Amino acid sequence: MLPSLFLSHGSPMLALTDVPARDFLAGLGADLPRPRAIVVASAHWETETPEVSAVTTNETIYDFSGFPPALYALRYPAPGDPALAAEVAETLRANGLGAELDTKRGLDHGAWVPLLLMYPAHDIPVLQVSLQSYLGPRHHLLLGQALAGLRARDILVIGSGSFTHNLRRLRAPGLQSAPPPDVAAFCDWMDQALIEGRVEDLLAYRAKAPHAALQHPTEEHLLPLYVALGAAGPVARATRLHSSATYGVLRMDAYAFN
Ligand code: ZN
Repeated sequence: MLPSLFLSHGSPMLALTDVPARDFLAGLGADLPRPRAIVVASAHWETETPEVSAVTTNETIYDFSGFPPALYALRYPAPGDPALAAEVAETLRANGLGAELDTKRGLDHGAWVPLLLMYPAHDIPVLQVSLQSYLGPRHHLLLGQALAGLRARDILVIGSGSFTHNLRRLRAPGLQSAPPPDVAAFCDWMDQALIEGRVEDLLAYRAKAPHAALQHPTEEHLLPLYVALGAAGPVARATRLHSSATYGVLRMDAYAFN
């Protein structure tokens, strides 16, 4: 059965930058059973109440600015799956979370950058589910749990964010800078809590994990982790698939939940 995944998507330039996280993602698709569809909860789509994208063909959204032209030349025109989107929205409503369909929105870079590396042929249907970051980790765990039935149907659920994400600390050029100790302390704490399945501690990460607010001044890049955790079902086991950093402070770790 497919796992659910948490992926760190890093800078939009990841697709064009020779770093270990890109190599990892480029090999990941072939390591997994082929999904029949993909549902992505990305840090870059936040709405008041859950929304599910329901388009026939996904537009590539360039939701960033100031990058080289080569990045804007990349496209990821994967098909959507409006029938699956309607079903996902219905499941979210049945779980008391509410949901609306968005019949226009394509894929933001939190979705298309990792998928371009994992499944470059863009021939697997993709839809997105939005985050409600003002509702915090538990809401996103519930959101993931509502999607748990998809795994058994060969549908891959991906939470796409960043294991650490404080852009004010980025120093370009500094792609290969050494990580500050607080970044490692936070990530080690999170890793241990994930591996040991301490869900309540993870939900309280902001109070319990060292330097949590420094790594995530806002929560939207960590919340996809909770969607992925929830989507694996009640006895989820976490496996760390990858760990690296870009710019020292932007951790690119990835987890599978089975
Ligand atoms: Zn991002």
